[in-house]
Amino acid sequence: MNIILLGPPGAGKGTQSAGLVERHGMKQLSTGDMLRAAVKEQTPVGLAAKAVMDRGELVSDEIVSSLIDENLAALDTGTGAIFDGYPRTAAQGEQLDELLAKHGRTLDHVIELEVNVDALVERITGRFSCGNCGALYHDTANPPAKDGVCDVCGSTEFKRRPDDNEETVRTRMDEYRAKTAPILPAYEARGLVARIDGMAGIDEVAGAIDAVLAG
Ligand code: ADP
Ligand code: ADP
Ligand code: ZN
Repeated sequence: MNIILLGPPGAGKGTQSAGLVERHGMKQLSTGDMLRAAVKEQTPVGLAAKAVMDRGELVSDEIVSSLIDENLAALDTGTGAIFDGYPRTAAQGEQLDELLAKHGRTLDHVIELEVNVDALVERITGRFSCGNCGALYHDTANPPAKDGVCDVCGSTEFKRRPDDNEETVRTRMDEYRAKTAPILPAYEARGLVARIDGMAGIDEVAGAIDAVLAG
């Protein structure tokens, strides 16, 4: 099973990917996470991507598709992939088709998380994650059970993304509208798209995704 999770910044792609990994043993392939790791390690890709990410604009198609290629090459064939935050442009969509063929995989579902634009800024500005294990939280919607302690690993170190500020979020939403949303019709024509109400609670969204995968 190989699926794409699509939705604007803050729609819940990362949160739902983590649930799918846990419930179904799939592998999350998040180009955002890969790019942030590259920035941290100051690799050539990271050095090229940092300023673009800080502005909320899109990194080049070639860079993200080659990251996906490397990660698919390292993934054993029996493990399903969740494409989280990729593809984001029509060119990336075409590159993904080529990469899936190259690695002997087929696309089963494109799941679009539909969310109210007004909710996104609040989701993004309230987002934080565990500095140790990366578990995702939200100030009000999804705080750790014990204040200041990660539910998953017990760490007390948390971090916020530098691009999770209101101004950058607006640019990221514009990029989504202009470049990413337009790739959906092509997947619709292939009968792959399932739309899910991303405004529901995290567990409800997870149940709706599982229903699509089981269907
Ligand atoms: P994305 O990967 O699409 O940018 P995230 O999964 O990181 O989105 O979610 C953004 C923020 O919203 C996080 O702080 C997360 O805890 C919170 N969140 C995710 N899903 C929901 C939901 N269904 N309801 C309320 N808050 C949510
Ligand atoms: P979001 O929470 O907005 O879904 P991501 O973690 O997916 O954020 O992406 C963070 C940033 O990394 C984006 O604003 C963009 O600069 C870059 N990025 C991530 N994935 C891609 C991609 N597939 N194509 C181009 N840029 C990407
Ligand atoms: Zn943790």
